[in-house]
Order: sequence, then C-alpha cells, then structure tokens
Amino acid sequence: MTRLPPLPELDWRDARTPIARAYDDVYFSAADGLEETRHVFHKGNNLAARWDGLVAPFTIGELGFGTGLNFLATWQAWRDAPTAPGAHLHYLALEASLPPRDALNAIASGWPDLADLTEHLLNNWPERAFGAFRLPLAADVTLILFQGDAADTLREIRGPVDAWFLDGFAPARNPSMWSEEVFQGIARLSRPGTTIGTYTVAGAVRRGLSDVGFAVEKAPGFGRKRECLTASFTAPEARSSGTRLTPTLPQKTHTPTITIHGAGIAGASLARTLAETGYEVSVFDPTGPSASGASGNPLGLLMPRLDAEDTLVARFMVEAFLRARAFYLRYAPAHCDRLIVEQRAKDDKDARRFVRVLENPPLPPDVLLPQSTPDALHTSGLILAPAKLVPALLDHPLISLSDKPVKADLTIHASGMRAAKTGLETALPLIPKKGQVDFLDAEATVTPAAIASGNYALRRGKLLLYGATFEAGDDAEVTRDASEENLKTLRALSPEWSAMAEDSGASARASVRATTPDRLPIIGPVPDVARVLTHHAPLRTGQTVPLPDAGTPLVEPGQFVFTGLGSRGFTFAPWGADYLAASLTGAPLPTTTAMTDLVSPFRFLIRGLTRNRL
Ligand code: SAM
Repeated sequence: MTRLPPLPELDWRDARTPIARAYDDVYFSAADGLEETRHVFHKGNNLAARWDGLVAPFTIGELGFGTGLNFLATWQAWRDAPTAPGAHLHYLALEASLPPRDALNAIASGWPDLADLTEHLLNNWPERAFGAFRLPLAADVTLILFQGDAADTLREIRGPVDAWFLDGFAPARNPSMWSEEVFQGIARLSRPGTTIGTYTVAGAVRRGLSDVGFAVEKAPGFGRKRECLTASFTAPEARSSGTRLTPTLPQKTHTPTITIHGAGIAGASLARTLAETGYEVSVFDPTGPSASGASGNPLGLLMPRLDAEDTLVARFMVEAFLRARAFYLRYAPAHCDRLIVEQRAKDDKDARRFVRVLENPPLPPDVLLPQSTPDALHTSGLILAPAKLVPALLDHPLISLSDKPVKADLTIHASGMRAAKTGLETALPLIPKKGQVDFLDAEATVTPAAIASGNYALRRGKLLLYGATFEAGDDAEVTRDASEENLKTLRALSPEWSAMAEDSGASARASVRATTPDRLPIIGPVPDVARVLTHHAPLRTGQTVPLPDAGTPLVEPGQFVFTGLGSRGFTFAPWGADYLAASLTGAPLPTTTAMTDLVSPFRFLIRGLTRNRL
C-alpha cells in the first residue's frame, strides 16, 4: 500500500469546475457552488440563527474537504456573524484524497469576495500526508484536516460536533462516504441537537441516518435540484464522544488559570499555542531563564524521522514534523530558515532503510527527494536558532514569566527530568541523557546548510555547530572527550568544515535531555499512580480490566505532564502543544486517539501491569 494519500485525477468542466475522474462527479455545482454551499450546508444546519450572539465554541464536521470551498464559505459566514467573545469555530474536515494547492488556485478567481480568505488558506495548504494537520487561521477559527478514509478517521476523533456537512460524491458512486460505519461514526460524535445538512436525499442515506438516531427531513433543494436533506440528532444520550486515555475536564464556569513549569521548547510551544487562542498563561522555570536547558543550543535542526515500515509511530513522526515546521515558520520566522538537509546513511542498515523509504515515501517530493541512493535530500528541513527562538515564542502579551511557582487551576509540568516528581517514577520512567554540541564562528555562509547522519553539522550565518553526543548521565558538564567525539563526527561529515573547526577552536555546550524507554514523549494528564495500581490489581490474576475511560478518577486533578521529548524536542513540542492545549480547553482533539495513546502518561503503567511487573 502506498504511504502517500492518493492525489485525485481532475478533469475540468469549464476552467473552474473540477471533476474527480474516479467518481465522474463534480466537487461543487458548476452553476453556483458558493450559493449551493450556503443553501445546503449553512441553511440546512440553521447556522445563521445558531451563531447569532453565540458565546461558546462551535464545531463543524465536514466529510469531503475537497477544494476547501465549503470551508472558505463557512469561514466567511462565521467572520460576518454577530458572535460574541468566547465563540470559536472548530472545523474538522475529513479527506481521503486532497487536491493539490493549484486546484484551489484555479477555481478561486470565481469567488472574489472570498479572495483574502482563499489566499490565507492557499498559503497554509496542508502537505499531502496521512494524519492530522491543525491550522489556526484566525484567533477564533481553527481548521483541523484529517487525511485518510472517513470511516477510519471517525473512529479515532473526539467530538462533540454541532453541525455536519456531508459532502461526499454521489452515494451511488462513492459508497465509502455513506456507509453504515460512517453513519455510526457521525452518531458517536454527535449530541442531542447536532444537525446535518447534505445535498442528497437518497433513500439509503435517509434510512442510514435515521437508524443511528437522526430525525431526517427533506427541504427544498438548490438550483435544479428539487430537494436536499436536513437532520437533527434525537437520541436521548449521545454515545461516548470517544476518548480513551484523554479524560475531558469538568466544565468550569470561569476561564481556568494555567501555569506551565518549564520554559524550554515544550513549555514555550504550549504557552504560545494557548496564548494564540486567547488564554492567559504564566510560565515558571525552576532552572532559570527560558531555554536554559536542552532547548538552548545556538543552532538546531528540524527534519523528519522516516521509518522503513508504515507503522503508527512512523505516521506520528511525520505528523509531528509537519506540525513543527508550520509552527516555527508562523510564530518565529526570524529564528529559523528553510533549508535542504543532506542526509547520509550512517551504516548499511540505515542505507537499506533509505532505499525502502524512498521506494515508497511517506512525504511528497516537495519534502523528500532521493539524492544518489542511498542518501536523501530533505527539501523542507528547518535550521533553528533555539536560544533565540524559544524566548521569541514566549514573547506574547498573554504570556507572563514568573520567577516562582504560581498556583493555578491547571498545572503543566514541562521541565524535562524535573517533571517526574517523587512518586511518579513508575508512570514516568524518564532516563537522563547528556548531549554536547560544539560550535564556533566560521566563515560566514549565505545559504544555511546541514548534513545529517545520526549526528549533524549545521551552518547558519557565521555559526558552525556540530554534534550532538548522546551519553548516559544527568550532569551538564562539558568534556574534552565529547568534543573530540564531535570533531571526529564532523570530519566524517565534511572535511572542509572540520578544517575550519580545527583552525579556530570551538566552544561547547552540554545539557541533559529527558528520554523515555520507547523514545516517545509523555504528554497528558498525570496519573494517580496509587489509584491506578489499586484499581487494576485484578490484572495480576489475569482478569481483563478496561483501560481508564473518560472521566475516571485515575488522574491527579488539574495536573498535566509534557516531558520525555528526548533529542526530538523541536519536532514533538508543537504537536504536543496542540494536543495539550485542546485537552486543557476542551477543544476538539487536533489528532487521533491512536496518536494520543502513543504518548499517554498511562502507557508505562499499563505495560507494567499487563506484564505483571508492578
Ligand atoms: N466539500 C468539497 C469542496 O468544498 O470542494 C467537495 C467535496 S467532493 C464532492 C467529495 C470529497 O470526498 C472528495 O474530495 C473526495 O476525495 C472525498 N472522499 C471520497 N471518498 C472518501 C472517503 N472514503 N473518505 C474521505 N474522503 C472521501
């Protein structure tokens, strides 16, 4: 199976109406796509009345994002609606085969009053890759695009959704968008009063929706179509809106106060993400100023980890990388540069991995290119200046830096090794690893450059940085041995650059990274270890015990952890920030539950219990 979502093959009716060849169907009405959207989806869901004076978040789920026209029209309607502070549009869009940016470009001229929004979306058009991408497009508008099959995605996302736009191709030609599984997924994510708008009145669709709890009604159609469909969820209790290890917080009547312990890349990314959505945050760093620890090197590198197999972890790495790249370019453009990273295989095993990855890559050619096999070129890596980038992220009017811990409703422990306070070692088995980099002022380079091969060598401006070591230990002492090891690495990567280092003599910086046994970060609510162990005691006798469910009292109230980012802190932090910010504020999950289970703070406890080791 290909690791990239398929590109749709498009034909054009006139220069502006795309048709999907595989379905022989249009993306939107050739007569007036925009008016049809307003009629079928906006009116069908009664949006104008529901948004009048709205003070709460509102979530739309769209099946079939296509060219993004429905989204743009909805964003425009939201922008013009008389909503009140507190209103926020979350738009969850599902799409199996995202059209390329050019498709939207080609049709955009037809809707001049959407021009500014279209340009904004085009500039942020998601990369073609399986997984979730969160786009904060305005202070009160967030688009989350899930690339993959709709039925699979619906099983893995969290609601509730207030209004659905069902916009697959015609049911007879596109049955996978109108299946029983899809209807069940829709019902699971709905609550009483959730509505649906769709252009089709096919009998199977009416029956399918009614079977899962919707009251279905025909309404006058748009243009030449006589009828369209509206529906409202009437089941007395919405089914679980589907989170397993991510408990929803009790609804508070006031805005919660939030404090983050740790001003490294994890804490700074979270603080910025929350501040951008209007939350005040205080940040306290027990170790001193921001970026004083592992996040404070003069240069760093962002490039994706690419695994040979198409596993969940491999997809997580891609999802996190794409999120991180967009995040730094959006919020700290002065402290990062796009660059082409030359990645060389470090041994035969690595070379075999490259061959497999390049045969069936999980990222499109504008991100990843084969060089001369077995090497690869990452055409969209980023070189970062962490020591400046982290303070820049924290520079926001809603973020205050505090020199002592502040009491708050919600506390996020994002301080590396310190996050595992006594008593939590079983849940958070962090392993300290020391890393040293060496750096110097070399001849200035106009074009930033990076060579990676397990270790890396980076050049930006006059700086040349190389390393990093990965050693057991929790002291941040610079050593001569580590400098020699780094220089040896540099010689192998670039004799020319190592000559510069040998001529000038380098400075060094060491720091301690918090790593985990599975090399994945730990992000989520802090487990109440004692209660988990008591609650799950039957496991020792071999009984099956359910995983902690939404709302269970197995967590320390108001306590969250964001640590274990290891040597991929700059890759994981923006993804973790998106996820935690959504958990803390009750917003829809910007990823799937399969991904959040990967980083769950419960996972080591559960593994220990199932292996009878606790
Ligand atoms: N709303 C879109 C717009 O504004 O341009 C038009 C949607 S078009 C009629 C239908 C979309 O559903 C296509 O983009 C197609 O790729 C997508 N689709 C079809 N089958 C799917 C499936 N099983 N899962 C997810 N998306 C699917």
